[in-house]
Amino acid sequence: MSETYVLEAEGIGVRFGGIRALDGVALRLAPGEVCGLIGPNGAGKTTLFDVVSGIRRPDAGRVLLDGADITRRSPVWRARHGMRRTFQRQQLFGQLTVADNLLVAQEWRRGGADAERTGQLLDACGLAALSDTYAGTLPVGRARMVELARAAADRPRVLLLDEPASGMTADERGLLAAAVRRLADQDGCAVLLVEHNVAFVMELCSRVVVLDLGRVLAEGTPAEIRADERVRDAYLGTQTPTQSSHT
Ligand code: ATP
Repeated sequence: MSETYVLEAEGIGVRFGGIRALDGVALRLAPGEVCGLIGPNGAGKTTLFDVVSGIRRPDAGRVLLDGADITRRSPVWRARHGMRRTFQRQQLFGQLTVADNLLVAQEWRRGGADAERTGQLLDACGLAALSDTYAGTLPVGRARMVELARAAADRPRVLLLDEPASGMTADERGLLAAAVRRLADQDGCAVLLVEHNVAFVMELCSRVVVLDLGRVLAEGTPAEIRADERVRDAYLGTQTPTQSSHT
């Protein structure tokens, strides 16, 4: 039943000329769930994010938010209704401080800034000491944390994170995982993340979806995915030890 899912994608198809980037892809996220999306290069992960966030209209299929069809809604409409996305390329306001990056995000949605929420998020993301630092001067791992905090600033219900751990140190990945878990557990936010660091995905996510050649190859708990021979053949077997093993 749709009511139990905040986000659903059904039968998604996208073609680029002769390439089927996505073919009959389905995805469901319950409130408070952290779901990982993994797969080899070119599997269709970014294209699926583009479809869910409204940047690309699919050739087939539907996207539902709270059971309502939003396939033809714009990215801005989706954002105003509780969907947030971060990108592989960082998109902070470099000439604003870390705290102002968060306050701007809150103003945009609700017309008011919530200093208490900002303080909580900065603490949760290990950024309190950097709150007055210009975002443009931050190292990549910290900047990614600010992006997460900014995306979460006005309590989204769905958060799409595109390679949030890339460029992060192990310590920063630990902070990131804790912050994402807190958003899911405390705010009930549904989180979908694309990430090449499989160990990170397996630690953090309760469910993992594997895309390969535009189709869902497998879906299950991290343990189920690790044990799946098709996934090993298509993807996990090609990972470097640091990507595929727990560290
Ligand atoms: P990566 O892990 O490398 O980011 P991905 O899983 O995100 O890969 P996509 O970027 O979604 O994969 O690409 C899926 C397929 O669609 C690939 O074959 C890719 O070459 C193709 N593709 C993606 N965007 C376009 C585009 N704008 N024009 C043509 N083909 C595209």
